[in-house]
Amino acid sequence: MAQKPSSLRRTVKAFHRRAREFKMIVKGLISTDHPVQAQIIPMRRCNLACAYCNEYDDVSKAVPKEEMFRRIDHLAGLGTTIIVISGGEPLLHPDLDEIIGRIRSHGIIAGMITNGYLLVPERIERLNRAGLEHLQISIDNVTPDETSKKSLKVLDKKLQMLAEYAEFHVNINSVIGGGIQTPEDAVVIGRRARELGFTSTVGIIHNHVGQLKPLAPREQAVYQQMKAMNRSSYSRLNKFQENIAMGKPNNWRCRSGSRYLYICEDGLVHYCSQQRGIPGVPLLEYTVDDIRREFLMEKHCAPNCTISCAHQTSYMDYWRAPQHKLPSLKKARPELFVQIAQPAGGLELVSKIGLYQGTDLEVAEKCSTGVKTCQAPASAVPLRD
Ligand code: SF4
Ligand code: SF4
Repeated sequence: MAQKPSSLRRTVKAFHRRAREFKMIVKGLISTDHPVQAQIIPMRRCNLACAYCNEYDDVSKAVPKEEMFRRIDHLAGLGTTIIVISGGEPLLHPDLDEIIGRIRSHGIIAGMITNGYLLVPERIERLNRAGLEHLQISIDNVTPDETSKKSLKVLDKKLQMLAEYAEFHVNINSVIGGGIQTPEDAVVIGRRARELGFTSTVGIIHNHVGQLKPLAPREQAVYQQMKAMNRSSYSRLNKFQENIAMGKPNNWRCRSGSRYLYICEDGLVHYCSQQRGIPGVPLLEYTVDDIRREFLMEKHCAPNCTISCAHQTSYMDYWRAPQHKLPSLKKARPELFVQIAQPAGGLELVSKIGLYQGTDLEVAEKCSTGVKTCQAPASAVPLRD
């Protein structure tokens, strides 16, 4: 039978968590050569099928734990400070507790995003023991409909269990946009989250490539209500969310591929869940040169981006290091690129992105490590200017 943690234990845990988060911020401010947050996918399969989601399937197998350990160890070697386990549905992975334990064994903050369906007191207790520190559940509506089954009606019992048994921080994210039929539900969900002692945030659903889809006036009104309800969370979300809600582009520097990494189930690094394929480089070959190059690389999709975890992670560096388009970055920092021989003669600077996209993996791997010895594969796609 699961044990309820005492309030003293919870207070001590919360204090410890905040101290570690403070350390993470200091480390991030001192150096830009490490990822602040990486999202990893141990399993693409999900037990639900939300209509707006492009991040799941219903067939794929769990990534073996040894492979997940290798990826976590590499992220630790790069100096990553937070790893968030996402999916698909991570609770379907048979070795989830060991994966969380491996993250914590490196002193990295461990978080998870789940739909919450599989939570029971014993499972929550196991997550406590494994060392989970942050958990987020997205709830889309008050009663289930054809767009989403992540409803308060179904999940309220799970939230009560979390309120009783969890030693980790819980955030409830409600979403608006993207076909959610009753945007006003977000306010009910936010209130319930606060009643149970959790934090609450609101997410704005993006289109199929993570870009802005302006909110209707009714949805904008809900956003303003949520903002008034929980000022402390919204000050964290700052101007980004505000502009997105109003349908306005943001002027910011996306540090994806550098401070924020998205690692898919195949172990490839992508900018984010909505820009999969770029860079598309195997994590185990990702180096500090890649981190430095991507830190300075301007992202064409930034103005209309709605990926709030990338916003939050990049915010730390908003005041420094302006970004460049590809040609000027090549000129300014040639050491961050790979030099390869062209079939027509001469040498060219390319990034691993150009090498890996649409390229035979073996050829790309050879090129990315060799200097002058490798022919540029005919299929290599240069980075967008
Ligand atoms: S629960 Fe999450 S991963 Fe699963 S289909 Fe819904 S949004 Fe996608
Ligand atoms: S701006 Fe960054 S986080 Fe947003 S869609 Fe583009 S690469 Fe992804």
